[in-house]
Amino acid sequence: MKNLKKIIALVMALCMLLCFAGCGAEDTTSESKPTTTEKATLTTVKEGKLIMATNAYFQPYEYYDGDKIVGIDAEIAAAIAEKLGLELVIEDMAFDSIITAVTEGKVDLGLAGMTITEERLKSVNFSISYAKGVQSIIVKEGSPITSVDDLYADGAAYKVGTQLGTTGYIYATDDFGEGLVTPYTTGNEAVAALIGGDVDCVIIDNEPAKSFVANNTGLKILETSYADEDYAACIAKNNEALLEAIDTAITELTADGTIQAIVDKYIK
Ligand code: GLN
Repeated sequence: MKNLKKIIALVMALCMLLCFAGCGAEDTTSESKPTTTEKATLTTVKEGKLIMATNAYFQPYEYYDGDKIVGIDAEIAAAIAEKLGLELVIEDMAFDSIITAVTEGKVDLGLAGMTITEERLKSVNFSISYAKGVQSIIVKEGSPITSVDDLYADGAAYKVGTQLGTTGYIYATDDFGEGLVTPYTTGNEAVAALIGGDVDCVIIDNEPAKSFVANNTGLKILETSYADEDYAACIAKNNEALLEAIDTAITELTADGTIQAIVDKYIK
């Protein structure tokens, strides 16, 4: 009888201990950032909203139609926001301000035809990729630059126009040196510099390149590409729950054909 009491007391003590340990563990997880194994509640900069930073001069991914920002990224973001039950708000800013806006917690994500790079991964998380990007080279018709190789030829010192803060700028300065590469605030300005003869070519993403060539006479895109890359959404490193939710949304929107339908609407 005595022994039985002892056993019961021991079992009760053990139960209490286990319960405390359990509670303690729960407390720490709810305070620290959510882990992938737990369904975390989503926090965004403004409750009920999904604020997206972009640079709306990047047709067909983001551009103005009247005073509304439209395009592939805008529509994909709207589809993601709908899945998460949030209202999409788009903020237009310089391309090279997007990552800072994300890291400073001013916006929830950047979606701007942004390429995943090792350097950017040091400051932000990237979602799974939703599109392939290509860095193309625009030249004037009749240009002595006929292929990418010409830029690397012995003695070649072609002046390259790029957009500030983009992979085109980063790769070109690595390859040809800062002296030969001019960063412009927008792709439009880089193309204007090409037309005006200030640079010999412009390195920029292929889809915007196509619209620049379509909208200006006397320009062409070289057949060989300069670089291949993956576009993704960037999200603050301390918001893994949002990263996870966006990844799930992109996976579902890819599987049900929504993303392809959006791309097909803008890229014929
Ligand atoms: N894909 C390029 C980059 O990530 C350019 C994007 C852009 O200009 N919007 O740097």
